[in-house]
Amino acid sequence: MLTSAELKAVLARYEIRPKKYLGQNFLVDQKVADEIIGTCRLENTDWVLEIGPGLGALTRGIAGSVKKVIAVEKDRRVCAALLELMKGFGNIQIIREDFLELDLARALSECPPKIKAIGNLPYYITTPIIEKLIINKDNFSSIFVTVQKEVGDRIRAKPGRKDYGSFSCFVQFHASPVVLLDIGKRAFYPQPAVDSVFMELSVLPKPPVQVDNIERFFTITRAAFGKRRKTILNSLSYCGSLGLDKSGVAALLERAGIKPTARAEELSLDDFARICNAVNLEV
Ligand code: SAM
Repeated sequence: MLTSAELKAVLARYEIRPKKYLGQNFLVDQKVADEIIGTCRLENTDWVLEIGPGLGALTRGIAGSVKKVIAVEKDRRVCAALLELMKGFGNIQIIREDFLELDLARALSECPPKIKAIGNLPYYITTPIIEKLIINKDNFSSIFVTVQKEVGDRIRAKPGRKDYGSFSCFVQFHASPVVLLDIGKRAFYPQPAVDSVFMELSVLPKPPVQVDNIERFFTITRAAFGKRRKTILNSLSYCGSLGLDKSGVAALLERAGIKPTARAEELSLDDFARICNAVNLEV
């Protein structure tokens, strides 16, 4: 991969000034790149979707280990540089597009049914990128992402932790998150303000709790954490789309066996599932 000095030369040649608003912190530590690629258990039959390849710090190593890489990069100049830097490889398709706007079904139409997703994600849109990957989880055997350490903490947080929230519930409903590597901020140029972690989100074959309506389940978790300092009774009473007044919510919580004075951060996925499923229990 490019050393820090080589990277700066490429940036100068292509007149690329790393853009903070695009989360452009390029990996310049070969050892970290090797460790990342080593933990992804890549095989020569794999197809990989890479989000935000930048100047190819991971792309090169991935392409050398797998059958095909589909790399989605938003920045036009970065794409031009990447195209030149990856010239020797015949198995990299570069799509110049905003990943959030990308028609994933079309982009992956030639792929085998299960591929791997990998990305050192641009930090400003980590959450929507992970949401999009998880919503399309049927395409992926595994999802590997580098995120800011505090985002990694939020993703993995369990009840009782202050970083436990609706995003923790969303990810843990669909996937099992594991931190594979700690990555210091010095591994990137320009250096971000905080350290990162490289995580695997192993897609679960079925959710860890059973709910009768997934949309309602997430309406409830979002409403509960939207007013996380309030009791669950109050936060759900403010939730228009649940359509229950305070006495209706009190009855719902009683049916679910949840204390009305509990706060969202004390409730497990199982507790939220009980609330969700109690909506349709006979009163
Ligand atoms: N993978 C490279 C590396 O490790 O050096 C670059 C990582 S950098 C943290 C994130 C990359 O995502 C940048 O190249 C940036 O231009 C790109 N990016 C930012 N927003 C994007 C978007 N919406 N869709 C696709 N790529 C995006």
